[in-house]
Amino acid sequence: SDKHSQEFHKDFHALFIFTKVQSNPKLKDKFTIVFGSLFEHAAFEDDETFHIHFVCDQEGREFAEEYLKNHVAHPKFSFKVHFHNSASVAKEVFPQVQAIQTMLGQKHPYYEDTIFFISLVLHKILPDTVHRLVQLDLDLKFTVNIKDLWKEFSYFKQDNVIGLAHENQPVYRHLLWKYRQENSETTVGNPAASGNPGFNSGVILLHLDRIRSSYLYNSYLDINKLQEVVQKYSFKGHLGDQDFYSLLSFESPELFFTLECVWNRQLCQWWKNKGYQDIFDQYFHCSGAIKIWHGNCDTPIPV
Ligand code: UDP
Ligand code: MN
Repeated sequence: SDKHSQEFHKDFHALFIFTKVQSNPKLKDKFTIVFGSLFEHAAFEDDETFHIHFVCDQEGREFAEEYLKNHVAHPKFSFKVHFHNSASVAKEVFPQVQAIQTMLGQKHPYYEDTIFFISLVLHKILPDTVHRLVQLDLDLKFTVNIKDLWKEFSYFKQDNVIGLAHENQPVYRHLLWKYRQENSETTVGNPAASGNPGFNSGVILLHLDRIRSSYLYNSYLDINKLQEVVQKYSFKGHLGDQDFYSLLSFESPELFFTLECVWNRQLCQWWKNKGYQDIFDQYFHCSGAIKIWHGNCDTPIPV
């Protein structure tokens, strides 16, 4: 197509949050697995650049620099690393999401939890030269070239601005119990085969250009508009940005592209023995060759 779009498709931006590694030493193993598998399978053309953004504190930065120096000394493609200090980012993001955190169920929004809501406002934080970005958890393992993720943007329908895979547990069915009881015909909270189970935010495709120009998306950042939706669904969450996207998808599904489950195969089974044994597998089921494993709630990833 036009020159402009050809140019920006040469830059591939990915973002990882990496904080508090000192109090959470398991993050080091996760970091090693996600970046080991990422670089094992990654391939880009000579005229392309892979950009890795870290939102991290000083310890995270030192660990990441050390890892990349020791393990990615001779990359087969060009890549750039960008460090964004998590305290500075939190300072910028907190005023924009504090009320949303409260609205979604956090009684006293912790300043340090703000970082788990940055994806909502990344389109305002990052420069306009970043057109699309993939945000990824650290508890992942790649079996394919990470570049393939950006192909998924080409399957977005006209109104889609964000791409996510469904949540693989009945957590939103649980959180929506009141709305579902009062609206017996609803399909929100149903398994994917018969409705919308909500989204998981371990892999997020952010079409930043479209988000920036989406009146509808940005209207939900207005606390009065969000309050209407929260009240309609009697919603009370606790899972950070994925609560926001799940809630929006009940009300405005056209904003979202649903990634196939193989792009974010979550392994956590915490909800299985919490009264959902009979229906758990309808949520947990994912057939096909897994492209990205997600060892959420500290679940080991199969080797
Ligand atoms: N994270 C972090 N420091 C922490 C906890 C979380 O940097 O102390 C980041 C990390 O990128 C992680 C993401 O936040 O992958 C989400 O947390 P996690 O994957 O543990 O949540 P889960 O997928 O189990 O719900
Ligand atoms: Mn995770």
